[in-house]
Amino acid sequence: MTELAGRTAPRLRLDPTRCDGAGYCAEIIPELVRLDDWGYPMVEPRPIEDPRLLRLASRAVGQCPRVALALTAQPERR
Ligand code: SF4
Repeated sequence: MTELAGRTAPRLRLDPTRCDGAGYCAEIIPELVRLDDWGYPMVEPRPIEDPRLLRLASRAVGQCPRVALALTAQPERR
């Protein structure tokens, strides 16, 4: 787990059950979101340590029309 100044770096998470597949998030932050062959996002699960990427990820979360994205410090459950 990656930590910065005593806290865990957040990760971008997608709830695919909410996503409409319009792909708006990939336009905002293509560094962390790519679209599959059907136009649905595939989110890079790594911790976001770059402040610029974190700002873009936060914007993508705030502008997702289906509230399908979140920033969380929790590692992915397997
Ligand atoms: S912006 Fe939200 S609803 Fe649109 S593709 Fe991205 S995650 Fe899905």
